Amino acid sequence: MDSSNRSHGARAPALGFTSDNIAGASPEVIEAIAASSAGQASPYGGDDLTARVERKLSEIFEREVDVFLVPTGTAANSLCLSAMTPPWGNIYCHPASHINNDECGAPVWYTNGAKLVGVEGQSAKIDPASLHSAARVKVGDVHSTQPSCASITQATEEGGVYTLAEIEALGEVCKASSIKLHMDGSRFANALVSLGCSPAEMTWKAGVDALSFGATKNGVFAAEAIVLFDASLAPEMGYRRKRAGHLFSKMRFLSAQIDAYLTDDLWLRNARQANDAARRLTRGLAGLSGVEVLGATEANIVFCRLPSAMIESLHQAGFEFYHDRWGPNVVRFVTSFSTTVEDVDNLLAHVTRAAVAHQSGN
Ligand SMILES: *Cc1c(COP(=O)(O)O)cnc(C)c1O
Repeated sequence: MDSSNRSHGARAPALGFTSDNIAGASPEVIEAIAASSAGQASPYGGDDLTARVERKLSEIFEREVDVFLVPTGTAANSLCLSAMTPPWGNIYCHPASHINNDECGAPVWYTNGAKLVGVEGQSAKIDPASLHSAARVKVGDVHSTQPSCASITQATEEGGVYTLAEIEALGEVCKASSIKLHMDGSRFANALVSLGCSPAEMTWKAGVDALSFGATKNGVFAAEAIVLFDASLAPEMGYRRKRAGHLFSKMRFLSAQIDAYLTDDLWLRNARQANDAARRLTRGLAGLSGVEVLGATEANIVFCRLPSAMIESLHQAGFEFYHDRWGPNVVRFVTSFSTTVEDVDNLLAHVTRAAVAHQSGN
């Protein structure tokens, strides 16, 4: 891009749709990091910014919560789970979950060997009846690992969003089974604005005990918040975080990010932009020859099936996205807070051109 172009703020349309973490960070977040660097601050979270983040999260969730900031979602998930299960526990999760597929065994390692037990359901959502059955297998049998917690992802890895009724149903099953409920909220804001409910309704009011409150995928540089609603999990969390090497001495830099993220609804605005971009993409894809949109677009992830020639043609035009991981010719497009209308329309123009070529047999 030449400098005259840059000075007008224009940029070529972005071609990456692999995931929402290929985006940078919101300018507000980067500015907040720089601003927080001035002067001295108490280390290890004893600073004013960290206290402010804790207050803000308590306000947002409409109750006292315990907050522990960490740099990655894998750390947030694994630390939450480690406080919710003994080493001989079962962690019920969907087979498609991030904790099962994409964390290199960290949940098993952090928990000293607890077992991830897959529970099926549509759109990567755990089915409550299946969880109920799973949590009754060999209970009290000394030869078998024991029910200890369930983990759900909101929004899910397949772009679905649990309704409040679905979370409440799982919360009921967990309570009846005396197990705890964790929510992987790596895309928490995307799910929240999709449902249009309150953060409290989507979590503790529905039975969630611990939340990995994601921010990195939605405009933050590197920070996630462990938010505990079950206060009994809190005392050991500080030790677990330190022992895992995730207690930042210059915590203010993490806190500054989350503080900016929660200021003036940046987190909600970013999520709306990502979701709107995904919906625009879905609307544009629907009805194109050769294109089959798969499932509803409830957050910022779009699945569709494209003919191989169209996938190839998009790759040749420079577009990046994952395909054939979820089934033959299944394509996943992920939008983010930085995806613009122009980015989406540029992708759609290419898909449309490829669809026309496909239809005419070229
Ligand atoms: C991205 C993501 C995470 C966090 O991943 P990190 O790379 O460890 O930050 C957690 N859960 C889900 C569902 C994700 O998509």
